[in-house]
Amino acid sequence: MASARHGVREAPAGLALLQELLNTRAPMTYGVDLLLDADDAQRWLTEALATWSRASGLPAPTLLISSSDLRSLRRLRSTFENVILAGGSREPAGALPPADVPVSLVPDADGWVRIVPTGRGVRWLASALWAEALLAQQAGLWPRLKLCNNAECRAAFFDTSRNNSGVWHDVSTCGNTANLRAFRERRRLMGGSGAIPPRPTVR
Ligand SMILES: [Zn+2]
Repeated sequence: MASARHGVREAPAGLALLQELLNTRAPMTYGVDLLLDADDAQRWLTEALATWSRASGLPAPTLLISSSDLRSLRRLRSTFENVILAGGSREPAGALPPADVPVSLVPDADGWVRIVPTGRGVRWLASALWAEALLAQQAGLWPRLKLCNNAECRAAFFDTSRNNSGVWHDVSTCGNTANLRAFRERRRLMGGSGAIPPRPTVR
């Protein structure tokens, strides 16, 4: 699974599907972008949808990924990256979300309503992801799905800190690298030429 490659805590229930999509991007210096090759994308999506189906209690269709779907998948990923970065007020939004996304509302005999994705192929996936965004927003979970503050990393993580203040997918790697950079910059500005602290071990 894509999120497991980054060693990040998984978002709860169906929101993990969106986190998975975001984490298909290659981790910093290792691994591959899972949306560059149709076979990689197919393996990833089949497993991600099976997991989503178990979490949501809804059936997932079999989506067959052709090489022409890869571009649509990457565009979908970029759109969600942009809205999450814009929500964190860190960068202006690039690719805008679609004007509307079709879903089905399916009430049961007791009047409880489920939101069910519709459409085919990548459109179905977009419907499922925006439905999960809505559910996460209503549950107050949406602001906790974040992209790592390290621009070279951008791993998607679920922030469980009490005041939702986390900015690194892993404090001991990305957080330390940033602290070291800031330390060196301060030292440079102060004109110091003292010993440079040892490099942290970064995977
Ligand atoms: Zn990171």
